[in-house]
Amino acid sequence: MNDPVTPTTPPTPRRKPKPEATTIGNRPLKPATLMMGFGYDPSLSEGSLKPPIFQTSTFAFESAAAGKRHFEGITGKRPGGAEGLVYSRFNGPNQEILEDRLSIWDGAEDALCFSSGMTAICVLMLAYCSAGDVIVHSGPLYAASEGFVAKTLTRFGVTYLDFAAGASRDEIDAVLAQAKDMAAKQGGKVAMVYLESPANPTNALVDVEAVRDARDAVLGKGECPIVIDNTFLGPLWSRPLDHGADIVVYSLTKYVGGHSDLVAGGIAGAKAWLDPVRMLRNTMGGIADPNTSWMLLRSLETVELRMTRAGENAAKVCAFLKGHPKVEGLGYLGMIEDARQKDIFARHCTGAGSTFSVFIKGGEAESFRFLDSLKIAKLAVSLGGTETLASHPAAMTHLSVPDERKAKLGITDNLVRVSIGIEDAEDLIADFDQALAAV
Ligand SMILES: *Cc1c(COP(=O)(O)O)cnc(C)c1O
Repeated sequence: MNDPVTPTTPPTPRRKPKPEATTIGNRPLKPATLMMGFGYDPSLSEGSLKPPIFQTSTFAFESAAAGKRHFEGITGKRPGGAEGLVYSRFNGPNQEILEDRLSIWDGAEDALCFSSGMTAICVLMLAYCSAGDVIVHSGPLYAASEGFVAKTLTRFGVTYLDFAAGASRDEIDAVLAQAKDMAAKQGGKVAMVYLESPANPTNALVDVEAVRDARDAVLGKGECPIVIDNTFLGPLWSRPLDHGADIVVYSLTKYVGGHSDLVAGGIAGAKAWLDPVRMLRNTMGGIADPNTSWMLLRSLETVELRMTRAGENAAKVCAFLKGHPKVEGLGYLGMIEDARQKDIFARHCTGAGSTFSVFIKGGEAESFRFLDSLKIAKLAVSLGGTETLASHPAAMTHLSVPDERKAKLGITDNLVRVSIGIEDAEDLIADFDQALAAV
């Protein structure tokens, strides 16, 4: 006979996946397989094959003791975040499943999701920087990232130095040494090395291995995190954690979301690097909402398919554009000429992506004529969606960049930025062909 007072129910099943969920026998399962079910147990949600959207602001605790334990995780008394669900600014089932699946792609211990790529970047930087500190970054960065460092963080006593994306080991060493001196004078430290590779719109790749060696040599091993915005090649074509980065950043709005129907961001890395960011996210908010997280779970099921197809399409379109009489040149990772860039590509990338630059013969007028003549490709900024997009950086995304800096970055009036989608490749070629004929 059961004593009605004694709890007879077994402990609540863990929502968190068990490690063996990633293997069959000795065989580690591939990310493409794990995207269908990893981190979600249908039996905990009435057998629903897909996770429900948990539209709630707060979660009921099993007991007061459980509530206390969860809050120890939230407040950092115990590292690694909450063991259970607490309140929707901190965590939620859709977000946790998403984070479990995101970390798989980068081989990361953990991940955190955010309401946008920029929220991820801003919360990450704020978590690591104090007054007097120096951020070293590669250049150019996504305009809003560069702006946050140069215009916002500087108001709080954080300074910065940058090096060109393609910089050599010696050049990186020199900038880090300068940053170390600068930090010492300001009473701070080098707080972070922040990279973006390939740079937009130049497509210059950063040598992450060289940056790691430089950090270890000049600042000390693991002295500050090396962070990299992997939006353009991730999660499929580049895994920067394998090359020495500590934290990977994504605008999930792009390839991961992939359908141009949501805005979100994420970071992935070791728990120890992510914990300060999680703590600040708990305070500030900025976690992705349940609906967006659910949409991203949908998207992750096809991310490999979509990116593979887009990459194949881009290779075909670029093969057509190369040598076209109205095309002056291409900034496409599949056709790098520079020996050092080629070497970085070979070491760091497994694919050339589907976002590239086309230099039209002529200037703004010819480029606009080309853009206005496109029938399939839509005129829009952003990238990584199922549909092909084209834009004019000098007149759009980089309009506010001073002319001098534009010239230095190679953002010319004849540069058209293209993100290839998953349409039929021959249709896309026909579209580019007729638009070039109209120039
Ligand atoms: C779009 C983008 C961002 C910003 O992401 P949002 O989701 O728009 O906030 C950051 N970095 C890169 C490289 C991007 O392309």
